[in-house]
Amino acid sequence: MSAKISINKTSVSSLSKLDFDNIPFGKVFTDHMYLADYENGEWKDFRIVPVDFMPTHPGNLAWHYGQAIFEGMKATRDADGNALLFRPEQHSIRLNESAHRMCMPELPEDIFLDAVHTLVNLEKNWIPQQEGSALYIRPLMYATDATIGVRPSDTYRFLIFCMPVGPYYPKPVSLLVSREYVRAVKGGVGEAKTAGNYAASLYPALLAKKQGYDQMMWVDAIEHKWVQEVGTMNIFFKINGEIITPATDGAILKGITRKSVIDIFRDHGYTVTERPISIDEVEEAYEKGILEEVFGSGTAAVISEVERIKVDDKIIHLDASKFVASKFAKNTINQLRIRKIEDKFNWLVVAEDRSVPVTA
Ligand SMILES: *Cc1c(COP(=O)(O)O)cnc(C)c1O
Repeated sequence: MSAKISINKTSVSSLSKLDFDNIPFGKVFTDHMYLADYENGEWKDFRIVPVDFMPTHPGNLAWHYGQAIFEGMKATRDADGNALLFRPEQHSIRLNESAHRMCMPELPEDIFLDAVHTLVNLEKNWIPQQEGSALYIRPLMYATDATIGVRPSDTYRFLIFCMPVGPYYPKPVSLLVSREYVRAVKGGVGEAKTAGNYAASLYPALLAKKQGYDQMMWVDAIEHKWVQEVGTMNIFFKINGEIITPATDGAILKGITRKSVIDIFRDHGYTVTERPISIDEVEEAYEKGILEEVFGSGTAAVISEVERIKVDDKIIHLDASKFVASKFAKNTINQLRIRKIEDKFNWLVVAEDRSVPVTA
């Protein structure tokens, strides 16, 4: 099934106003967005229109009870000017996993991919060319019923917009471990990429900022010691030559960068172990002098090195300039994305105009 996407182009592009060497993060939107609506059990009205405000009824269910899920992905450009998508089918799969948990309708993969392909192809002149820069793509699905009452909505909107971004988190980050606040608990919605997880994290993140830390490092909600993840990233530790990342357990977001980084490391000969890791083990490793690297992985930052972690009264200091594995992973992903190195995993897909359905 492939449905036609109608395109209504803007008469005034704002592309000429963009300074590609100085892109403020999260503030610049491209000209167009993609919209689709779900009603009477089916997705319809596939369309690309100029980015604009969308009128919403005050009773909109998403606002009151939080049925909202999203994705974050990136497009880059190769030397031939092609727009390249990075593992888009993985994002479709995860969007549908989030939808399932939040009682929202699945979006068939072909509708998702046709939308991403067509919109990114249309906006490809917005893709910054410098290594580490990209076009950030934000798919979003939310409830649209205008009725008050706690139940799943019958209607939804799916949309995608894009934003050019420069390199994210260029500096190493500092993390605060809380034994008090939690992000997610097994059985909850931590594995879904849903808006509420972020709402819940804002207050603790603010406390971390007040203490001089960039983000919280989340530990589990029961024993308060098993490391989960960080802000918008999954976390990796390199201890005595071995790379360890917490095993996904139902409360950790299954990052696509996490998965990719694991493949890249293993392919390069590193030992990567996915298992529960406690913050006490990290502390012990630090004291023994075998905690070699700590870094986060996520679409936005790709890899973000960690230079300081506060756990209870102790502070772990790391010299991120000496990290080797993290830089290897970051360079590999960034260079792969612009085809500077071979895409041996076949993760890149050239974005194409699919506004006219391909007839078999
Ligand atoms: C999106 C996200 C990540 C990273 O996932 P990627 O697919 O690698 O971008 C990690 N943690 C949370 C909480 C997230 O929302």
